[in-house]
Amino acid sequence: MSEPSKQPIAVAVLGPGTVGREVVRLLTEHAEDLAARVGAPLELAGVYVRDVSVPREGLDSALLTSDAEALVARADVVVELMGGISPARELILAALAGGASVVTANKALLAAHGPELFEAADAAGADLYFEAAVAGAIPIVRPVRESLAGDQVERILGIVNGTTNYVLDEMTQRGLSYDVALKQAQDLGYAEADPTADVEGFDAAAKAAILASLAFHQRVSLDDVYREGISGVTAADVAAARENGQVIKLLAIAERADGAVAVRVHPALVPVSHPLAGVHGAFNAIFVEAAAAGELMFYGKGAGGVPTASAVLGDVVSVARHRASGGKGPRESAYAANPVVAIDTVFTRYSVRMNVPDRPGVLQRVAEVFAAHGVSIETVRQASGAGTAGLVISTHRALERDLAATVADLRGLDAVLEVTSVLRIEGE
Ligand code: NAP
Repeated sequence: MSEPSKQPIAVAVLGPGTVGREVVRLLTEHAEDLAARVGAPLELAGVYVRDVSVPREGLDSALLTSDAEALVARADVVVELMGGISPARELILAALAGGASVVTANKALLAAHGPELFEAADAAGADLYFEAAVAGAIPIVRPVRESLAGDQVERILGIVNGTTNYVLDEMTQRGLSYDVALKQAQDLGYAEADPTADVEGFDAAAKAAILASLAFHQRVSLDDVYREGISGVTAADVAAARENGQVIKLLAIAERADGAVAVRVHPALVPVSHPLAGVHGAFNAIFVEAAAAGELMFYGKGAGGVPTASAVLGDVVSVARHRASGGKGPRESAYAANPVVAIDTVFTRYSVRMNVPDRPGVLQRVAEVFAAHGVSIETVRQASGAGTAGLVISTHRALERDLAATVADLRGLDAVLEVTSVLRIEGE
C-alpha cells in the first residue's frame, strides 16, 4: 500500500454513544486503509464526553476530553454524534466558523436548523455531510443529491423508521396487537422505553423534511411535514388490509405535483405487490420515482451502531478527501421555491372502514354521502355479522379535504354505526 504523503487530518468525535463508539473503533481499526483512500492519514484528535471519569469500554481514555470547544478548535473534521439540538448546534457552528468540515447523523437538528447550518457551511467554504441522518446505513442522501442531480424527482415513498416497521410487520406476520408488538420491540431493543418519537412519526417526519429538501432543491422544514403515527393502527386494520391484498406501512412521502410540494408521514395501505410491502422487520427502504430514471429502491439497515457508522465514515472519507485535495464537495441546492402545501390539498386514494346496520338501503345512503363530496368509490367489500355489517370502501383518487368532509358526514349518518378507520392507499 503506498504511503499517503499529505499532512494528517485531525478528526474529532463528539459523543461516543451507540454510533460514535463504532466510528472511533472503525477509524482506529481501518486507519491504514482509510489513509490510503483519503490520501492523508486520519488522526483521531479526541473524543468529547461530558464526564471523562466514566469508563468507556474500548476507548483509549487518553483521547477523552470534556472540553468540546478546544477539541473542535483543533480539528479539521468534526463528527457530531451526540444527537439533540444543544450543544450539537453550537458546536457544529463553531466547527464551521473555524473552517472545519462537519459530519453529523443528527436528523432532529438538521430538520429544525438545517438552513442556518448550511448557510454557515457555505460562508466558511466547508463541508457539512449527513448521510447517516436518513435511514442509517442506506446510501440515500448522496444518490438523491448527486446521482439524481440531473433528473426530476417526482415522488419519494420511504420506510425510514425501523421501530415502526418492526411493530407493523409483527402485527402483520403474527397477528399481534399494537401493544404486544410494541412491548416486544422494546424488549428486543428496537424501541425506546419512551417510544413517542418513533411511533408518533416525529423521527420519520424529520427524515421526510431532509429528503424533500434534497429531492426538490428547496428548504422544507419539520413544520411543513404533516404527521400521523401508528399508535392508532389496530389488529383489525391489519386483518382488513390483508383481506384486501395490502399491508400497512408507516410511510414518509414527499411529492411534487402541479408546481407544489407536499410532505407527509402517516400509516398507509400498500399493495402486497409493491416493493415496499416486502420490507420486513426493522429494515428501511426508500422508493424514489424520478422522471428519467424511473423507479429506484434503496434498501438496508436504517439503524444500529455499526451500520450507521458505515455511513458516517463514508462521509468522513469524502470530506477528508476534499481537504486533502483542497476544496469542497457538492452540497444540496436550495434554489427552488415551490409552495409546500397542507395535507388537505393532497390527492390520494382512501380506504374507509365502517360498521353499518345490516338492512336494505344502507349502502345507497353511504354511497350518496361519498357522491355529495365528489369522492368516487372504486370498490365496496362487505362482511355481515349479527345484525351489523362491516363495510370497506376504497375510493379513487380524491382530495383529502373532500374525503375528510365525507367521513365527517358519515359519522353523523344514522345509517352508519361507526367509522372504524380511515387509511390512505399509496404505491398504486
Ligand atoms: P447515544 O447512544 O445516545 O449516544 C450519544 C452520545 O452523545 C453519548 O456518548 C452521550 O454521552 C453523548 N452526549 C449526548 N448529549 C451530550 C451532551 N449534551 N454533551 C456531551 N455529550 C453528549 O446516541 P446514538 O444512538 O449513538 O445517536 C447519535 C446520533 O446519531 C443521533 O443524532 C441519532 O439521531 C443519530 N443516529 C443514530 C442511529 C442509531 O442507530 N443509533 C441511526 C441513525 C442516526 P453520555 O454517554 O455521557 O450520555
